[in-house]
Amino acid sequence: MRIYFDNASTTPLLPEVVETMHELMEINYGNPSSIHLHGRQARSSIEAARKTIANVINASIGEVFFTSCATETHNFFLTKAVEEMGRKVIIYSAIEHHCIFHTAEHLKEVHGIETIVIPVDHKGHLDYGVLENALKATGTSAVVSIMHGNNEIGVINDLKRISHLCRENGALFHCDTVQTIGKLPIDVQEVDVDCIAGSAHKFFGPKGIGFMYLKNDIKLSPIFHGGSQERNMRSGTENIYGICGMAKALEMAHQEMSERKDKVTKIKQHFINRLQELEDIKINGSEDGLYHILNVSFPAGPKADLIMFNLDIMGISASSGSACSSGIELDSHVLQAIGHPAGRKAVRFSFSHFNTIEEVDHTIEQLKTITPALV
Ligand code: PLP
Repeated sequence: MRIYFDNASTTPLLPEVVETMHELMEINYGNPSSIHLHGRQARSSIEAARKTIANVINASIGEVFFTSCATETHNFFLTKAVEEMGRKVIIYSAIEHHCIFHTAEHLKEVHGIETIVIPVDHKGHLDYGVLENALKATGTSAVVSIMHGNNEIGVINDLKRISHLCRENGALFHCDTVQTIGKLPIDVQEVDVDCIAGSAHKFFGPKGIGFMYLKNDIKLSPIFHGGSQERNMRSGTENIYGICGMAKALEMAHQEMSERKDKVTKIKQHFINRLQELEDIKINGSEDGLYHILNVSFPAGPKADLIMFNLDIMGISASSGSACSSGIELDSHVLQAIGHPAGRKAVRFSFSHFNTIEEVDHTIEQLKTITPALV
């Protein structure tokens, strides 16, 4: 039995998505920029996909752009905020993804802008008071980049509250919605946000394709120059298979959202219940976090560092919350931000509607044989 509990990292392709892409590969090979029938067919598939995505997030079709992944959107928007929209301060939370952290640090180095990191508490909840003070001090010179749901510990931020604070103070609001697109409802009319991003491979679509929502009153110069595709924002022949596969995956995620949520929530809860059979287990993050993410902290001990290795040997794919630096295993910046005790081992199990209760039971039995307390 091979078990996949790493769905926050990436997800398998849905058969329906494969079918959509396969059909296009066989029959719809025209260049969308060509004016003949083959080209028009390809163009119409792409525009139908754009409409599907716009509908799901309640945007207008002119606000949706196709990209290669969310990292591209995040880099693009933060860079343009500094280089074209005159923002001199980037405000982000201590638990943002590296594609925000590293982009902000790069912009600081290159343009000498200021960065402000908003702390979180031991469960990962944002300090809204610190954010408010930072916004009052920086106002219209700031761009805020705060994620919707965290990829490691699953904590969910209050987007309406953040948006309100940004608008009150004239800051731009950019939000990393990678872990929540297709899992929680996102309505850009309800939450006033300037830019969000999705990566298809997180919601059972293909890798190498994503989308950017860019609020229609924001006008920026192109990501790439060339043949003027994507309304001159991102030149280059479109990845039609990826685009249509992504739209199919998102449409299904949207239609099946509550059904999938119920199933995954039950799996996660069963995992939590059964973890009580192990000694000295703690759960990182907040009880009301993302339903597909469970971050478990195992006690320190001689076997702690081998948990990931042993899980893999036992046929279970999960994810570690640490990174190797100069040969030493260090907790990730997210775990450090919530004060996860050094020495303990954090493992992220992330679920999908394809997982089963039996897989959880099997994993718990395996964990009983490899966790440190039993040494
Ligand atoms: N943001 C979050 C919260 C993520 O989980 C990820 C991927 O792990 C990314 C951004 C980057 O996504 P991609 O690598 O698809 O660009």
